[in-house]
Amino acid sequence: MSTELSKEHNNFIEEIISKDLESNKHQGRVHTRFPPEPNGYLHIGHAKSICLNFGLAQKYNGLCNLRFDDTNPDKEEVEYVESIQEDIKWLGFDWEDRLYYASDYFPQLYQLAVDLIKQGLAYVDDQSADEISNTRGTPTRPGKDSPFRDRTVAENLKLFEEMKQGVFQEGTKVLRAKINMASPNMHLRDPVMYRIRHTAHHRTGNDWCIYPTYDWAHGQSDALEKITHSVCTLEFEVHRPLYEWFIEHLGLYPSRQYEFARLNLGYTIMSKRKLLQLVEAGVVDGWDDPRMPTISGLKRRGYTPESIRKFSDRIGVARRDGIIDVALLEFSIREDLNARAPRRLGILRPLKVVITNYPEGQEEWLPAINNPEDPQAGTRDIPFTGELFIEQTDFMEDPPRKFFRLGPGREVRLKYGYIIKCESYQKDPSTGEVTTLYCTYDPQTKSGSDTSGKKVKGTLGWVSANHCIDGEIRLYDRLFLDEQPDGHPDKDFTDFLNPSSLEVVKGKVECNFEGVKPMEFFQFERQGYFNVDLDSGKDGLVFNRTVTLRDNWSKHQKRN
Ligand code: ATP
Ligand code: MG
Repeated sequence: MSTELSKEHNNFIEEIISKDLESNKHQGRVHTRFPPEPNGYLHIGHAKSICLNFGLAQKYNGLCNLRFDDTNPDKEEVEYVESIQEDIKWLGFDWEDRLYYASDYFPQLYQLAVDLIKQGLAYVDDQSADEISNTRGTPTRPGKDSPFRDRTVAENLKLFEEMKQGVFQEGTKVLRAKINMASPNMHLRDPVMYRIRHTAHHRTGNDWCIYPTYDWAHGQSDALEKITHSVCTLEFEVHRPLYEWFIEHLGLYPSRQYEFARLNLGYTIMSKRKLLQLVEAGVVDGWDDPRMPTISGLKRRGYTPESIRKFSDRIGVARRDGIIDVALLEFSIREDLNARAPRRLGILRPLKVVITNYPEGQEEWLPAINNPEDPQAGTRDIPFTGELFIEQTDFMEDPPRKFFRLGPGREVRLKYGYIIKCESYQKDPSTGEVTTLYCTYDPQTKSGSDTSGKKVKGTLGWVSANHCIDGEIRLYDRLFLDEQPDGHPDKDFTDFLNPSSLEVVKGKVECNFEGVKPMEFFQFERQGYFNVDLDSGKDGLVFNRTVTLRDNWSKHQKRN
C-alpha cells in the first residue's frame, strides 16, 4: 500500500500530506494558503508557490486560502492587492470565498498578546531598536536580558494598552515575547511582537498605531484559519520553533510549517523590492514590461498560464536552494505554443525581392498550413506576387558553401510557393546595404504540384509586398548579463543590466491578421512565437517576441 502510494507523490510535501491523511492527523483535512505581502507585483517565484499551494489543495480535495500579509503599513498598496488577485486568477486558481487579510486579525492578535502578557510570557521593553539589536548577542554568544524584562504583569498590561492608545512616540517601546536570551536559536531571544507606528494602514486606517511583526502575525494567522500545512520558503525554517512556541502557549490550532527552496531563475532577480527599483528608475516600462519576471510581465510577453503551471510542475519542490535555467521556462512555453499557436509568415527585417519573370499584375492565393501539429486548424490562403519581402539575414553576397539560403546564383524554395533563383542584386552605394534582389521563379515548382524534380536545401519565409501589413515587432533579450545579478557582494545588481534587452524592428507580416486582438499568439514560421501587444491598435500592429524557436533545453537534456 505505502509503496503504491509513494509512486504518486511528486514531492516530499505530498509524501507528508499522504501520511497525515493516513493517520487522520488533521481530521483528514488539507488546508493550505498563499500569503503574499501586497508590496509589489507577483513574480515567477510566487507563481511557483501559488501552483504548489493551490495544487496541493486540488490534489487532496482540500482548500487553499488567499491571505494578504498586510501587517506593514508603509509599503502596502491597494494597486498591489488588486494585481495579485488578477494574477492568481489568470494562473487558473480560485480561493472562492476565502480571501483574508492579516489586518482583519489585528483585534484577535492584540487579545492573544494580552493573553501572553497575562501568562508572564511577554513584556513591554523601553529599549531602542539599536539597544535591542546590540544586546541580542551572536549565534555563539548569549544575549543580555533587557532591564525591563521583569516588569510585572499588571505594569505590562497597562503599558501595552497605552501603546495601543497612542500614548507613546514611535520607537520608544515595543512588546517582546519572553522566551530565552541565551537560546542558540536567535529567533527565540525575546523577539519583538509589536512596534509603535503612527502611520495609517491601507485597510484599517488610523485604528491602530501598534503593528504586529511578521513573526508574530504569520503563525497566528495560519492557526486562526486552521491551516493544516503551512508551506513556505526555506528562510523561515529557523523561525519555526518560534511559531510553535506561540501556538503551544496560546493553545491554538496546530498548523505545521513546511519549508521548500525558493525558486531562483538564472539571469533574473526575484525580489519585489528590487523589481520595484527597476520600475521606479524607469529601467523597464512598468511592472508588466515583457522583460520582467513578474506574472504580469510574462503574461504580456505571451506566456500562457498553462506553460507556467507546467514549468512549476517540472521544477518540482526542492529542499535546497539552486538556480533554475531560464531555458526550462522557455521550453515550457515553446511546448505549449507549438501545439496551439496558429502559424503565420512574418519578416522582422525586410529585404525586397523582385521576381523578374512573374507576369505583371498577377497574384496567386496559395494554401498555407495553419498548424502542422493540429490538422483541425486547416489552411489559409496567402498571396504570391511579383514583389515580395524576405528576411535580410536570408541573403549573403558571398555566402559560404553551407549557407542554404540565398546568394548570387543560388536557389531556394519560398515556403508554400515556388523555387526562386537570385540573378542579381542592388546596393545602396552610400551605405553598401543590399536593397533589392532580382530573382526568377520556376513556374514548374509550385508547392503541392511541383513537376520540376528540382531539389533545394533551403526554404524561406516571405510576404507579398502588395498585401503585407507593417508591424512593430519587439524583440527581447534577458534583462541581466550575469547569471546571478544579485549574487555579488561588491556590486549592485543594476551593474549587470543588459543595455540591449529590447530591440524594436519595423517588420512586415502577411495579410491574415484581420480582427486580431491583444494577447493572441502566433508562430511566425522560422522566427519564433509572438503575441499581439496591448499597444496594438489603430496606430498599427505591435508584436512581442515571446521566445525564439531555438530550443536550448531539450538539446541540453539529450547531451546529458
Ligand atoms: P520577495 O522578496 O520577492 O518580495 P517575499 O517572500 O517577501 O518575496 P511574499 O509576498 O512574502 O514575498 O511571498 C508570498 C509567498 O510566496 C510566501 O509564502 C513566499 O515563501 C513565496 N515565495 C516568494 N518568493 C518565492 C520564490 N522565489 N520561490 C518560491 N516561493 C516564493
Ligand atoms: Mg516577504
